[in-house]
Amino acid sequence: MAEPRSFRVEAVVLRHADWGEADRILTLYTRERGKVRAIAKGARKIRSRKAGHLEPFTRVTLQLARGRDLLIITQADTLDAYLPLGENLIKTGYASYAVELLDRFTYEEDNENYNIFRLLTDILSRVASDPDPWLALRYYEVRLLDFLGFRPHLFECANCGETIQPVGQFFSPMAGGVLCPKCGTGLPGVWTISVEALKYFRHFQRSAYPEAQRARPGPEVQKELETLMQKHLTYLLERELNSSGFIRQIKK
Ligand SMILES: [Zn+2]
Repeated sequence: MAEPRSFRVEAVVLRHADWGEADRILTLYTRERGKVRAIAKGARKIRSRKAGHLEPFTRVTLQLARGRDLLIITQADTLDAYLPLGENLIKTGYASYAVELLDRFTYEEDNENYNIFRLLTDILSRVASDPDPWLALRYYEVRLLDFLGFRPHLFECANCGETIQPVGQFFSPMAGGVLCPKCGTGLPGVWTISVEALKYFRHFQRSAYPEAQRARPGPEVQKELETLMQKHLTYLLERELNSSGFIRQIKK
């Protein structure tokens, strides 16, 4: 069956770039089709009716029409502009981080993934409304990896499969999770992970947000969680870029 020439989606604007004289090209994460790019004709003209609805971090409904090469936005309505995100630079920075992470881990050819769409709208409203969204962001990273299929092993050693004991362990981005002392000692590219940090990672991995939100890690553990996750994300993104992700990117 042929696809309809025009269809409606709910989407979050991830980013936009100038296109030609007066147009803008938008990268969107949609509820119905995952990541897509679409063109907003005349969006840079003064008083363009559509432009206000098409800023990054806005949740919109869009009517899209199939052009010769690209999807064309024919109608746009704002559902949520998450206004507090624009009110201070820290919130804007957190929202940019959340959106960029999702953008870098997803591709236009991916199928729709409602869990990811929902996670994205949740993190934007949490950053908008929470005076200290630190925990919301760590929770977002853990769940995003889950939904992308990169769930780290936290209960059994990622190498030998032994149950992880409540002692200091190692974390290996390359192995995809925690290593027991036997497997991790002396290996390059592994990081120590404290019992406390492991406990919080596990808690985020298996809890719904209202429950995860009750966690109160101290400043030292917060720093550890953040650093380990950054190492993990960096490793995954580089691997993605060097393999299938890179190939998919250059095909465009
Ligand atoms: Zn092991």
